[in-house]
Amino acid sequence: MRTCPYCRRGDENLCSAPVFTGWHKDGGYAQQLTVSQDFAYLIPEAFSDAEAAPLLCSGIIGYRALKRANIAAGGRLGIYGFGSSAHLTAQMAMYQGASVFVMTRSEEARALARQLGAAYVGGAYDSPPVLLDAAILFAPVGDLVPVALQALDRGGTLAIAGIHLSGIPALDYNAHLFYERQVRSVTANTRADGREFLALASEIPLRPMTTVYPFDAADVALADLASDKITGSAVLRVRP
Ligand SMILES: [Zn+2]
Repeated sequence: MRTCPYCRRGDENLCSAPVFTGWHKDGGYAQQLTVSQDFAYLIPEAFSDAEAAPLLCSGIIGYRALKRANIAAGGRLGIYGFGSSAHLTAQMAMYQGASVFVMTRSEEARALARQLGAAYVGGAYDSPPVLLDAAILFAPVGDLVPVALQALDRGGTLAIAGIHLSGIPALDYNAHLFYERQVRSVTANTRADGREFLALASEIPLRPMTTVYPFDAADVALADLASDKITGSAVLRVRP
């Protein structure tokens, strides 16, 4: 544990033998569980339980994706897809002075993006009105990779936030990559990310938009998620 070459050089998110709660260990949806104290966070008091739930996963991964997108303060950030992680990332980016351009398919998500103060809101494949300094792809749709790269200004970075992505179509070197545009993936997060993110989240303070479901309606929550009925984050309440 924590002895692989990646952990030793500080890239614990790239660990070759990671252990995840809810995947390798029971307890992701339990009322009580044990974790190694090295991997426990103190949840800031600014957040209710329902608000805190989306922070640990969608919030932290959004924070890391934003770091990987390498955007300077005052820059133009494109966000492709606007679900749980993206609506938190947009708040962080705007707090840090970025203007945010949101491209997404659901009208409800577009309405939320407008309400949060996005500079531009369009459909999933629409071109923003200006070239972007950076973009984050949250939708797990490889077809959007060339679309997002084409929207980048010279030297811009595209960070792909998802664990899964459908196939990426062939790229055209000139249209998508030349002028030092970059594509980067995002894999999990480190404890340093978590500490930085929770401090930032309570400073802003981040406002997760949540829909709470009782635990025994988890199947309903998943179906609603699949059919775009949830805007923001879905939260399961374990305790009745
Ligand atoms: Zn390791």
